[in-house]
Amino acid sequence: MKQRLSILGSTGSIGVQTLDIVRENPDIFEVNSLVAGNNWEQLARQAIEFDVDCVVIANFDKYELLKQALADYPIKVYAGSDAIEQVVQSSQVDVVVNALVGYAGLHPTVAAIKAGKKIALANKETLVVGGDLVMRMAAEHNVPILPIDSEHSAIFQCLVGEQSPVRRLILTCSGGALRDVPMSELKNVTPEQALRHPQWSMGAKITIDSATLVNKGFEVIEAHWLFGMDAEHISVLIHPQSIVHSMVEFEDGAIKAQLGTPDMHMPISYALMFPYRASRSNERFDFFANPTLTFSEPDLIKYPALDIAYDCMRRGGTASCVMNGSNEVAVAAFLEGKCRFTDITASIEYALQRATFVAQPTLRDYELSNEESRALAAEYLNLK
Ligand code: NDP
Repeated sequence: MKQRLSILGSTGSIGVQTLDIVRENPDIFEVNSLVAGNNWEQLARQAIEFDVDCVVIANFDKYELLKQALADYPIKVYAGSDAIEQVVQSSQVDVVVNALVGYAGLHPTVAAIKAGKKIALANKETLVVGGDLVMRMAAEHNVPILPIDSEHSAIFQCLVGEQSPVRRLILTCSGGALRDVPMSELKNVTPEQALRHPQWSMGAKITIDSATLVNKGFEVIEAHWLFGMDAEHISVLIHPQSIVHSMVEFEDGAIKAQLGTPDMHMPISYALMFPYRASRSNERFDFFANPTLTFSEPDLIKYPALDIAYDCMRRGGTASCVMNGSNEVAVAAFLEGKCRFTDITASIEYALQRATFVAQPTLRDYELSNEESRALAAEYLNLK
């Protein structure tokens, strides 16, 4: 029987590549539902091509346009975030691919867990904001959460078959678009510069997060929740070539790494097909075209966000939720030309110093913390 997918964020970078995997494997997958934020034209095209049962557009203003575009097809059309939570719970869905961006990913993940759906998770913010609650719920409902993020997929692949304790998880980090820009220049960086990632072509938010190293900080938190390792046993190494996707060090000193060209199709297909692998005959790594792999320590003075994420992880509770909410507001402001690049991390620090801290948050506490941290970042940035 085919796996029936609900793909959240189908019009984005990960969503589109997930549909490539479906296209390449029509005997294994079919698409039940697709979800997007605003891009109703692309959503309609995808819905028709994959002959889906239903679509959801988060923005109510785009509902009529989408409905009209699909008027000749037997495809149900819904709008709004409540509808997202409903479609992931459908009995016609086996696997939920969560490729939404930001806090918006948390509630659909929780809904999918409650309905016992297997989750292929790209939306790292789900675990950054609510990792404690989400992992506990997943365990209670016996729901597997399979990582799509390339670093976590690499670690997951290195851990398969291992029974012995792990000494350390080593996350690799390209250094982002501004790796070679001197610290004194960061305040003058434009969105265009920060969006020019050297290795990966990704959505705008994660590309900016990569440039501030907020993304790597989030990945440390994500690794903590996925693999149950504490801060002291997760390291970050700058690896500009992005060939080694991450590593695991064991107690006997052995280190396992997963290597390959920087291409998200691999981790997406692994999450969907685990414990099997996709057959991608054109995918061949050329060692001679990539003869040099280098590693160095991250510059924590230039990029304070990494240390901030470690601190949030150690504090637990709502700390990482505050980091995420304030970061989302500041990244959006930076992309709109409303603040400087360096204001992103400054907004996070401002919010963390002032936000209410809840040690053992419920889902409602995360909601309130997200709202408060967004308001604090807006206050810091003087946004109307
Ligand atoms: P994109 O910005 O490219 O895509 C985001 C998707 O989510 C779009 O389909 C967008 O719809 C939709 N969306 C945004 N906000 C909402 C909302 N409130 N409700 C419903 N849908 C919404 O992001 P990426 O694909 O780059 O990233 C997705 C997630 O995967 C992020 O958490 C990111 O950190 C993670 N990730 C991404 C990687 C990559 O290579 N891109 C690598 C590893 C992790 P629309 O465009 O129609 O508005």
